[in-house]
Amino acid sequence: MGHHDEFSDLAARTERAATGLSGALANESELGEEHGTARDRIRGCLLAGAVGDALGGGIEFDSWSRIRATFGEAGLQSYTPAYGRVGAITDDTQMTLFTAEGLIRARNRMEAEGTCSPRHEVHQAYLRWLATQNGHRDPAHDGWLIAVPELWNTRAPGNTCLSALQSGQVGSMDEPINDSKGCGGVMRAAPAGFLAEAADRFRLGCDVAAITHGHADGYLPAGALAVVVGALVDGAELSTALDDAEECLRQARSHDATLAALRAGRTLGAAGLPAPEQLEGLGGGWVGEEALAIAVACAVGGIDRPAEAMLAAVNHSGDSDSTGSIAGNILGATHGVEWLPTPWLDELELRDVIDAVAVDCHRSFHGVGNPDARDLSDWWERYPGR
Ligand SMILES: [Mg+2]
Repeated sequence: MGHHDEFSDLAARTERAATGLSGALANESELGEEHGTARDRIRGCLLAGAVGDALGGGIEFDSWSRIRATFGEAGLQSYTPAYGRVGAITDDTQMTLFTAEGLIRARNRMEAEGTCSPRHEVHQAYLRWLATQNGHRDPAHDGWLIAVPELWNTRAPGNTCLSALQSGQVGSMDEPINDSKGCGGVMRAAPAGFLAEAADRFRLGCDVAAITHGHADGYLPAGALAVVVGALVDGAELSTALDDAEECLRQARSHDATLAALRAGRTLGAAGLPAPEQLEGLGGGWVGEEALAIAVACAVGGIDRPAEAMLAAVNHSGDSDSTGSIAGNILGATHGVEWLPTPWLDELELRDVIDAVAVDCHRSFHGVGNPDARDLSDWWERYPGR
């Protein structure tokens, strides 16, 4: 297949994907009725995660003093341009979408063949993400997600993710690929929480992070996030969801630092919405357990005022887009979509793509019978299970 054909094929697939979107979002009156449902919480999880990523993306590498000097005493209050636009998502959201895609394809493969390895399918999805970062178009790359042109932008991808995927090896908890505990494992793991089977979420979250991050504090926070998100989607209170995550961590090997960080985040949040200086006591969020702790502190402290909690999660000296993304995952899984400020949603890059992936996750993991008006005849083509 030549370049022209290849491109036409990609363009055609993108067009089909966009057609699918209009089906997903056509019935606006549905939105009110679905408030408080699992689908609403899954959509909230991915959309608010992307909003947090986009809020933090422009100040990812800025100290709090610099943020304050630029935006005033209260810090950043809405999107600031990054990567040439307002509302730009970064690698956190890109990889979250590919995590979701891999898990949906694993489910399709399971239904078709009776067996599959989610870890393998998600690794394949990450290799497609890697291709978008390398600019390496390959006709063998199927599915609709990789055909979304905007996903081919590079948005400060993490070195650990790039090098681990380029190695050709697939990391696991038993055979760690490296000793990295960067937050690149946890910031993309939320979709593991969408599984209907609560008992599988922790392991799956750890597994998808361990593909690239071999240190326990790189993958355990991902398992913890999956547990929290899953319990919230099921309708649990945040405190119960966090208790569940602590319980899973206690049973895991090498859990001391991640469990301690999670508890420290909860403790700080219990005193109210944390100030930037207080968040620094939890670290910078560049490593997995610190990113989880900062996000949890802001979500707990601002659970009843989630938009403020999102801003707290990015207004600090640390890794703002990842902490914003994880906090958004938690707050969105708690409150759904409705609370998200309209300008944040309207200006969010790839909002429709993110929403479509969320709706597809709900369809895939939570089964039939949901009020989904889409024509699913191209479901397999969009998520090939092979
Ligand atoms: Mg990022």
